[in-house]
Amino acid sequence: MTSRSAGGRRSAGEGARNRDPLHPLQLLRGAVSPPPAGPARILVVDDDARFRQSLTAMLEMVGYHCLAAGSGAEALRLLEEETPDLVLLDLLMPGMDGHQVLERVRRLGRDVGIIIISVDTSWDSVKRTLRRGAENFIRKPYAPDEVLAAIETCLQKRERRRQNRRMLQQRQISEQLHRFLVNHSPDCIFILDTARRFRFVNDKMLSLLGYREGELVGRAFAELVADPASVSCALADGASGTRKRVTLEVELKRRSTAGCDCPDPVPVELTLMAVTCRGAGGGERVSCGVYGVARDITERKKAEALITFQAHHDQLTGLPNRVLLNDRLDLAIRQAQRDGGRLAVLFVDLDRFKMVNDTLGHAQGDLLLQAVARRIANCIRRGDTLSRIGGDEFVLLVPRLKLQRDAARCAASILEILRAPFMLGVHEVFVRASIGISVYPDHGRTPEELLRHADMAMYAVKEKGRDNVAVYRPQMDRKYIRRLAMESEIRNGLANNEFVLEYQPQVNMADGSLRGLEALIRWDHPGRGRLLPSDFIPWAEENGLIVPLGNWVLEQVFVDIRRWKRHGIHPPLVAVNISSLQLRQPGFLGFLVDLLEEHDPDTTRMELEITENIIMHDASGTIRRLNQLADMGVRVAIDDFGTGYSSLSSLQRLPVTTLKIDQSFIGRIGPASSEDSIVSAIVAMAGSLGLGLIAEGVERELQARYLGRIGCHLAQGYLFAGPLSHEAAGRYLGGCH
Ligand code: C2E
Ligand code: MG
Ligand code: MG
Repeated sequence: MTSRSAGGRRSAGEGARNRDPLHPLQLLRGAVSPPPAGPARILVVDDDARFRQSLTAMLEMVGYHCLAAGSGAEALRLLEEETPDLVLLDLLMPGMDGHQVLERVRRLGRDVGIIIISVDTSWDSVKRTLRRGAENFIRKPYAPDEVLAAIETCLQKRERRRQNRRMLQQRQISEQLHRFLVNHSPDCIFILDTARRFRFVNDKMLSLLGYREGELVGRAFAELVADPASVSCALADGASGTRKRVTLEVELKRRSTAGCDCPDPVPVELTLMAVTCRGAGGGERVSCGVYGVARDITERKKAEALITFQAHHDQLTGLPNRVLLNDRLDLAIRQAQRDGGRLAVLFVDLDRFKMVNDTLGHAQGDLLLQAVARRIANCIRRGDTLSRIGGDEFVLLVPRLKLQRDAARCAASILEILRAPFMLGVHEVFVRASIGISVYPDHGRTPEELLRHADMAMYAVKEKGRDNVAVYRPQMDRKYIRRLAMESEIRNGLANNEFVLEYQPQVNMADGSLRGLEALIRWDHPGRGRLLPSDFIPWAEENGLIVPLGNWVLEQVFVDIRRWKRHGIHPPLVAVNISSLQLRQPGFLGFLVDLLEEHDPDTTRMELEITENIIMHDASGTIRRLNQLADMGVRVAIDDFGTGYSSLSSLQRLPVTTLKIDQSFIGRIGPASSEDSIVSAIVAMAGSLGLGLIAEGVERELQARYLGRIGCHLAQGYLFAGPLSHEAAGRYLGGCH
């Protein structure tokens, strides 16, 4: 019989919690706890003491816990203090009768089962009590079994009610919790129906796009996309469920406001996932909508745009740089090819500019370059591209040229416009220039050829006394002859062992430890003394000898590592520069694998330094090769980062581990560097992509301090050590622990 007491009890606060919605996170802290277990508590209310005693004795015998009250007032007090689960209530009592007790309990909103046990069994009484919430009515004198059965039923009903309430409450809290998580997500979250209309959007989406609650539900998703065509495929894939997840970058339109009809769209990384459900009758799963997440990538895009701009423009004059010039020249050539037209390349080099720099200082020299750029830019046609490709070298691209002599006329007008003196503070400076011209298709068919020939023509002017214009002629091809000579010289150099490697330390500025060494090639030329890479690498790149030369470097690096090893010296990492031509060789991977297997690769890690431009050209082949290298445990660094063009998304697809910030950016760090400089943009971006960073060409304490402050701790530069011979590098390594 004790099993009858199974009905659990509620704690006093549950009713109150039911009324005040919980903060969703309280659920995680265990705010909803199960009710305490124990025998059900029954309050017997009757003014007849004998009756009370006999009834409580019987109930306690079967395992219930009993309370007793001799009056209505006492019953209400016990109800308040003891919170029984069930009340057995007499109707006829002096003072407050059972009807009044019932009425008070009802007003209090208490969930307590009430069974009436009374001699008053008039229809009117029964009706009144049942209407006020009594659950059963038993006539006095009672039959024990009838009372026990009624109690059991009542407690079960109450338990069911309690469980339902708990489930409802938990469902509400769980719903609140989900809503809380969705609405506090840093990303926009939405659901589209099969017609691609919004069914749900979270708060972040509303606030990001400037909408109020309810304004987006029902609207077509495509209406919000700046270029709807860009998402149509992805939405179709989502609809058919052909691809479970599609990620793409799009721009979402913001809501127009009173002051702004067409606000800037927000760039987002959008991920769409098909939502499927069982079809009718539990058959195949069918698409029933799309679940979307959009992440605001405004900051990333800004960094990318800044880096792209810097990569395409000269910092000093704001003119296009060599990279952009090459793009435009390429385009202009293709257009001229189509139209059968011509174009001209004017190579403008200022005469004796170095003298201005030397006498008035670099700051004045910079001002002069800016003024020259402005003056030339003012006298050219719209559609021409004026670029600065080096110190005092400007190149003007004149597309759609009618006659060759129009180019000469244009050059003459540049010389003319430069004749008026420039005022640099109190100084009056006179500028003269030498201009070389090449014309497509007469003097070349590729950007490189046209630039080289215009350069040669410019040199011809310099040789003949400066301040003039010359058009390219084949006789000027002396450099070509040099190139042929260089080819056999490099071959001889390789055969005669004239090349050597130097090693420049890369250090961790935070603790002074050594990160690794970069191998740099030098040529001990029998006639011209020690040559630096800039004296021969460009030629070797041009005639393809960079491949055997680069392979020699890789082999020599391993020879040098072995020599150090004999003295117990192990560099933590050796970085080797790899040319794009080398990387594109079909046998390159095999060659490197053989080398790594032959020499113990565990003691020294390899890092290959490649330039950004390698990634641009032949992207897919390069990515495949780089992935194979990464699988072999070889690290990949992007050298001279910032001078070429790599979109951040292309970097993300590569197994690149490190970016080497180009020296030109480090050189520009001065006392006035502000936080939004390109270097800090690169640092922030590398951080977000999880890439390591090394600053190249760190020469001054001030640069090192600035880099440390913005979080770039690895550096290479004369401030720490220049390139060292094999022996000197060994001594350096020996002293570094
Ligand atoms: P890189 O890979 O960017 O190498 C860094 C260059 O910066 C080196 O010039 C180094 O001597 C120089 N440098 C280092 N610290 C400083 C500094 O604090 N201030 C300044 N102004 N310069 C610093 P290096 O040795 O003349 O090499 C020039 C370039 O030649 C290298 O640039 C690399 O692109 C190429 N190169 C060098 N060795 C090889 C090689 O074995 N193979 C290939 N393919 N290219 C190589
Ligand atoms: Mg390098
Ligand atoms: Mg570099």
